[in-house]
Amino acid sequence: MKTIDHWINGTATSAGSTRTAPVYDPAEGQARARVLLAEPSDVDTAVAAAAKAFESWGDSSLSQRTKVMFAFRELLVKHEDDLARIISSEHGKVIDDARGEIVRGREIVEYACGIADALKGGFSDQVSRDVDVHDFRQPLGVVAGITPFNFPIMVPLWMHPIAIAAGNTFVLKPSERVPSASRLVAELYAEAGLPEGVFNVVNGDKVAVDAILEHPGIAAVSFVGSTPIAKYVHERATATGKRVQALGGAKNHAVVLPDADLEYAANHLTAAAFGSAGQRCMAISIGVAVGPAGDGLVEILKRKAAEIKVGPGDDDCNDMGPVVTEAARQRVIDSVTLGAEQGATVVVDGRDLRVAGHEGGFFVGPSLLDNVTAGMAAYREEIFGPVLGIVRVATLDEAIALINANPYGNGTAVFTGGGEAARRFQREVKVGMIGVNVPIPVPMSYYSFGGWKDSLIGDSPIHGPAGVRFYTRAKVVTTRWPQSAAGFNFPTSS
Ligand code: NAD
Repeated sequence: MKTIDHWINGTATSAGSTRTAPVYDPAEGQARARVLLAEPSDVDTAVAAAAKAFESWGDSSLSQRTKVMFAFRELLVKHEDDLARIISSEHGKVIDDARGEIVRGREIVEYACGIADALKGGFSDQVSRDVDVHDFRQPLGVVAGITPFNFPIMVPLWMHPIAIAAGNTFVLKPSERVPSASRLVAELYAEAGLPEGVFNVVNGDKVAVDAILEHPGIAAVSFVGSTPIAKYVHERATATGKRVQALGGAKNHAVVLPDADLEYAANHLTAAAFGSAGQRCMAISIGVAVGPAGDGLVEILKRKAAEIKVGPGDDDCNDMGPVVTEAARQRVIDSVTLGAEQGATVVVDGRDLRVAGHEGGFFVGPSLLDNVTAGMAAYREEIFGPVLGIVRVATLDEAIALINANPYGNGTAVFTGGGEAARRFQREVKVGMIGVNVPIPVPMSYYSFGGWKDSLIGDSPIHGPAGVRFYTRAKVVTTRWPQSAAGFNFPTSS
């Protein structure tokens, strides 16, 4: 069985690791490889390599850094097929969906290719007599990323291209369930001409995460994953003086107003709820049907859910693959069972789905629960699987109040034919990313991604301008070329 190792200082290595974890093919339910789990000493080795590399990379020219990014971008295009196959085999998502995350991740590399523009500072001439002021930003040093299983390449790409283009060196700890995509990325960076030690991959579990959080040589930590771990990472890493980005979980609502095109809304809701088997932080898990929209919407959703083809991700005719682990499959089944016990109507039941020839796979079918209420576990908990709950409300006001009372605030959407309702919705809803007739409003690379409330701990969203700010710090320089004598009073602008 293949062992997936680390990438430290430009070389594949097992460092001092002996512990391993199985890496599953979720479509078969079989372990296909094992991944090394780093010890704190392996994190030390990676940080030492990154610190050494920072001595020259932190001082490299903008053109040297962007040259590497342009080459890296071309290699991501060239290896799209390989990457998509790797992602699908460890995560389970269908190949087309894996390509989608590669493309969205590549857009961050394209943004990083323009880092010279993003890093431009300001200059103020003659702020006082013979005095000018300018500012500029410098990299932090060694920074680290800790990422979730559900986007094996896109979420790490939210972090390292911007960090590296801004002059930092990087230690990535990917999810131990999907380690192979980032290992290939490390090789592609090397092929693109990135000097050794600038990008390192340390595979591992909580032991590696804790070593990163405590490490005095790491200046900043970017984390994406579930809310409890985001809170833990934020607390521990800020306590050791690091900058922290910590993005957490979600429960995203899509409001469907009576003036919406119901067929259109149901189409998009179906894809947003069940695509990637519901394992997206921007998946729609709650549909909020306003007034008379409810019955028609549920009828169309029921028809569409029945049309979804579930099977292995590497078979082009499937729309939806398995979930990532047997535990995840059981959690989905239990959530639907509990929903029914608590009074929800099970309109479509995916619990018993079996895929012929893949009986051991972690498959579960799409489930649609109607008449969900805010008190039910199916509403409160992040199920992170192919379950769409429908809450019925009477008015847009009620829909907004429901969303605002939810502890999460990652993404939301409104389906409507009317600008007035859409405008009110986007102004009043307490959520970071909003779609108007767009179910999964993931911002483009040149904006920043981040939710509100328990979906983002601390205050830094990720990528785009916020990413550049996060991975750099500013200096403001006040300059005088003296032509007059110094005075003793506090300097003013005269
Ligand atoms: P997770 O929180 O279990 O794991 C994320 C990372 O933390 C992994 O690298 C893992 O090894 C590490 N980790 C897990 N348990 C830990 C512990 N006890 N101590 C220290 N480190 C630990 O998340 P996941 O299951 O991999 O991913 C799914 C979650 O991520 C969902 O909640 C989803 O909403 C969220 N997510 C959020 C966003 C966003 O942008 N807000 C994006 C993608 C995923």
